[in-house]
Amino acid sequence: MNKLGLYVHIPFCLSKCPYCDFYSVKYDEDTAKRYIKAVQANILGYSGVKFDTVYFGGGTPILLWREICGLLGSIGDMIDPDAEISLEANPCVTSAEAAAALLSCGVNRISLGLQSMNDTELIALGRRHNAKQGAKAVEICHNAGFSDISADIMIGTPCQTRESLRHTLSAVTKLPATHISAYMLKIEPDTPFAKRELSLPSEDGYADMYLDTVEELKANGFTQYEISNFALKGHECRHNLKYWQCEEYIGVGPAAHSFYGGKRYAVKRDIGEFMDNVPQRTYITDDCPAGFDERVMLGLRLSEGIDLYALCDRFGIERKMADERLSKIPPALYSFDGNRLRLTPEGFLVSNAVIGIMTDIKKEDIWIRSY
Ligand code: SF4
Repeated sequence: MNKLGLYVHIPFCLSKCPYCDFYSVKYDEDTAKRYIKAVQANILGYSGVKFDTVYFGGGTPILLWREICGLLGSIGDMIDPDAEISLEANPCVTSAEAAAALLSCGVNRISLGLQSMNDTELIALGRRHNAKQGAKAVEICHNAGFSDISADIMIGTPCQTRESLRHTLSAVTKLPATHISAYMLKIEPDTPFAKRELSLPSEDGYADMYLDTVEELKANGFTQYEISNFALKGHECRHNLKYWQCEEYIGVGPAAHSFYGGKRYAVKRDIGEFMDNVPQRTYITDDCPAGFDERVMLGLRLSEGIDLYALCDRFGIERKMADERLSKIPPALYSFDGNRLRLTPEGFLVSNAVIGIMTDIKKEDIWIRSY
């Protein structure tokens, strides 16, 4: 049977953070209950599939922990016994009760959005929790019995300095987290941040902070396996690896994407339309995905890189052309042993430019199609 990933978008938040452009609406219990029924009907509509990874992302999935436990019970037959089941949580609503219930209904990986361990930065980001609550949320999940805990932090936020980031890294690596995601803040159009005068680090400042992060996490045993993701041995996120390794997955919910049956699909960012339609309406975004360009673009995000010549041979690209493209990239940005092409941390910093040289993908496509 076809083993797939399942992504479930939970588009509810208590309030909107001013930098965020993920699709979410204000949480209310009745809509949430109706929403989960629509999610359940959509998932049950797929036949002949087995999920070996499940990921509840958002939004703030932990707000719906009771409904998610019910959902997992109803789709249990479709989930592999060894599946990785991840759920994103916000520290301000992470309780011992929710953590214990989620663990007992099969969730085995929690991803906590800490963002920073500095209260001034958290206020500037419009977050509802402080650093103490962030640390407490990790402890709650650990004490509940989770052995896979990811802590998300952000690089390049307003008011952040190299010193304050070092403080965050030092505090986060002392917590019982097994995985750390360190995302660079991107100012998205049409968010409140895009309209504000923000005091942000310079380009060089960003670069220093990113390289400090790579170094500090490495010194604490976290291996970088993707541009923004670091894990203790054996704690990499299997679900997210599917995206970068071009494996298939089904996405359910408004704004969700799928790669299924050889095509890529998207669902409109409209919760009303989603709840009124089973099966969910999707539109094709790519009817011939996972070709050379896309595999290079996604694979170069990973520390393991790509087997360049094997990809050339598979997709009928002349090796000579790949060599020519490679010769345009400064050597400090990559390593190539005649087999695997890998970016260095300095290369990750400018990965869009490197990927642009190695492929025919235009810059705006890279932005749109990045995961
Ligand atoms: S809690 Fe997360 S998903 Fe919700 S608005 Fe804030 S950043 Fe976005």
